[in-house]
Amino acid sequence: MRISFFGATKEVTGSNYLIETKGKRILVDCGMHQGSKANNEKNFNAFPFDPSSIDHLLLTHAHIDHSGLIPKLVKDGFNGSIFTTFATKQLCDVMLKDSAHIQEMDNRWDNKKRARKGLEPREPLYEMEDVEKALPLFKGINYNESLDLGSGIKATFFDAGHILGSAHILFESEDIKVGFSGDIGSSITPLLNMPSSFEDVDYLLTESTYGDRMRHSLEDSLDKLAAIIEESFRSGGKIIIPSFAVGRTQLLLYYLNKLVEDGRIHLIKAYLDSPLAINATNIYKAVLEHYPNFFSDDVKELYKKGILAFDYPNIKMTTSTDDSKKINTDDKAAIIISAAGMCNAGRILHHLKYQAWNPSTSIVFVGYQANGTLGRKIRDGADEVKILGEPIEINASVYSLDSFSAHADQEHLIDFVRRIAKKPKNIFIVHGEETAQKVLKDKLEKEFNIQCIIPEYKESFELNKEKVEQVYTEELVSVKEKIRSQVHIENVDLEKEMDVFLKMMKDYIDINKLHENTTLNIERYALKSSQIMLWLRKATEIMGDEIFDNYDALVEKEGIVDIKFEQKSKEFRKEYFMSFSPIFDDFYRKFKELLKPKKIKD
Ligand SMILES: [Zn+2]
Ligand SMILES: [Zn+2]
Repeated sequence: MRISFFGATKEVTGSNYLIETKGKRILVDCGMHQGSKANNEKNFNAFPFDPSSIDHLLLTHAHIDHSGLIPKLVKDGFNGSIFTTFATKQLCDVMLKDSAHIQEMDNRWDNKKRARKGLEPREPLYEMEDVEKALPLFKGINYNESLDLGSGIKATFFDAGHILGSAHILFESEDIKVGFSGDIGSSITPLLNMPSSFEDVDYLLTESTYGDRMRHSLEDSLDKLAAIIEESFRSGGKIIIPSFAVGRTQLLLYYLNKLVEDGRIHLIKAYLDSPLAINATNIYKAVLEHYPNFFSDDVKELYKKGILAFDYPNIKMTTSTDDSKKINTDDKAAIIISAAGMCNAGRILHHLKYQAWNPSTSIVFVGYQANGTLGRKIRDGADEVKILGEPIEINASVYSLDSFSAHADQEHLIDFVRRIAKKPKNIFIVHGEETAQKVLKDKLEKEFNIQCIIPEYKESFELNKEKVEQVYTEELVSVKEKIRSQVHIENVDLEKEMDVFLKMMKDYIDINKLHENTTLNIERYALKSSQIMLWLRKATEIMGDEIFDNYDALVEKEGIVDIKFEQKSKEFRKEYFMSFSPIFDDFYRKFKELLKPKKIKD
């Protein structure tokens, strides 16, 4: 069984994994890259696989960073089934249509800019008709029911407690069990069930969004929110809450209602100013009616008594743009819940443009803000930002209430692994920024003695019953082709060296196994071949002279005769190393990782 990582590698968005087993090709998630401009641009790249060759897609949940490229997948030739929970199927209907609408609008805007630059117009990423083609492919299933994909391949969806319908997926084939965490819910999700975990997996992919963070207690956040609301009630200032339309918004409405019921705030006016959030809230209602098991017992109990848990009595839903604009002409205190959650698009931009300069305004972040987004800039304390092309001073008070996040924090991510009775052999850490991933990796390796891997984009691994093995990627092979055609160095057998290099990359994990419980250091590793030393020296460009210094000592110690360089000048060596740049830069980054002395665990 082979798994390839085509998204959410060292970043939060763009979840996309390919499993190849028994002649079948199955995708897990097909998410959009979000955040910075460069990240958005990635969505326009061709898929690194042929979409028409994919048999099925398994979808963990409806969030766009997991589902957003499905219409493009269909547009580019995918015609298999999309298996997901009933609730996710319903939510995707509104979310993908909304996304197509955004794509079409962005495209018109973008093409105007392109025209001014003298560039050809570009097609939108996808359009409504692509969504219409994708929706009939969705097949709804229930939690905990095993899905037969033929040839002995099975998938089971378990409640992930993240948003309505969200799932962890257990994938089984060739007697190997792979667990996909999807996004793991926070343990305080009063609307949903607690996140479950797996009984037994051989390999685990886990998200790591908050891998480096512990959350404040919910009580602290509710206190803070109540204080902000009461202050606005007195001052007449607006409270702007950028919120993800699905999940976070419904949770906020639940807490606002609770604060009123507990007598902690006045019944302040709230606007739900996002057509998508309004539609999603309606889907929450419809699912509660038809598939109540997707909700927590509390929500079901209240519903029996005729109470909708995610309803707030003084709310105005603003669907039309005119109503939305009126919000900012009203000078009374109000809460404005609007999308997009990371302020990268949507109506929230207008509210920020009109209110952020005002010192009596409060901006309250309740969710993750990706690198490069407007939300991140404001949250990180920017004094001035550009909104819809205009510089806007930020005089508003800015708060970040992380307890409302729908993601597990570090402790709960660790607990997710702790609750797996039969632990995995390896854990792949995905869906997180690299700093968060490294912290989580350390924590997991320390507590469970399981080797964790932070996969790179386009990296593939062969999963066996006994071990995981890194595979040559297509890129690796294509780089070899490039070097063959571009680089010529006298007296150096390039072909042979590249083979050694590629083999070393491939052997990396096996070598780790050979040195169980010992420190694998550069000497033991590198001295397998004097030719590898050539590559090591290249690594000095990145690592400094240390390796180079060691090199002579090592050569002496091991009695290796380095014929190629023995009689050559330092200048020659340098020139030789430099001739490989920049083609190899990417590999040297990996190389650097490889060369670090490592404590190897089982
Ligand atoms: Zn999510
Ligand atoms: Zn996600």
